Amino acid sequence: TGTLYLVGTPIGNLEDITFRAIRTLKEADFIYCEDTRVTKKLTMHYEIATPLKSYHEHNKDKVTAQLINDLEGGHTIALVSDAGLPLISDPGFELVVECRNKGIKVETIPGPNAALSALMTSGIASYSFLFDGFLPRKDKEKKARLESLMTLPHTVIIYESPFRVKHTIETIMEIDRNRKVAIARELTKKFEQVVTASVSEIYERLEDDINLKGEFVIVIDAMDEADKVHWWASLTVYDHVVHYID
Ligand code: SAM
Repeated sequence: TGTLYLVGTPIGNLEDITFRAIRTLKEADFIYCEDTRVTKKLTMHYEIATPLKSYHEHNKDKVTAQLINDLEGGHTIALVSDAGLPLISDPGFELVVECRNKGIKVETIPGPNAALSALMTSGIASYSFLFDGFLPRKDKEKKARLESLMTLPHTVIIYESPFRVKHTIETIMEIDRNRKVAIARELTKKFEQVVTASVSEIYERLEDDINLKGEFVIVIDAMDEADKVHWWASLTVYDHVVHYID
């Protein structure tokens, strides 16, 4: 049987890909991706000629059978998502389970990830953290989820869309207006920005200093501040102009 490779791809900056990822994408029989137009940008840039097939949230049940068939027929398959790591708030989990059940080899080719990149630059404790993907969309459920996450002794990392980020910051503020929070925006892209402050300071700066367009990760400090090694006095805004390959 073949092998399924889970391949990490850039979260914005085309340069963020490993040599092994490129070689694997070139050598695979097929690349399964969420949106062929997005992955095409990557394959064109690196002159990867492997055929692209689509595997996304809405066709995954149907495509899994075909994929398993390809793998059992001895094909090598690379799974990528639009950005970052497959399976991490992206499709792939059911496929990995299916492969393991059928004795098909699964290998990972690590790469960039928005949650960890945000955590690393945020200045919020990175010792112990919980990644919770996207919050529920409904107000009540979102608040309940945040309330429970914000009582944990761990840093919390969540993904947020530009349409909901302001409301989410507001909700965090309702729960604890002094909580230290970071907003990481457009990581690895031209106008990367990481702002760390109390959530109420961040709320005041939204729109003026923090552009609400783009892609966002929110990092929320743990409830217990007592044993934190580093504490800072006020807002830190990091505006970076990144060497950006689009
Ligand atoms: N699989 C991806 C990963 O490993 O990071 C995450 C995919 S998830 C569908 C997309 C979300 O990740 C976006 O809505 C945003 O919250 C976050 N994200 C992706 N790229 C980002 C970037 N360059 N800067 C900030 N957040 C990003």
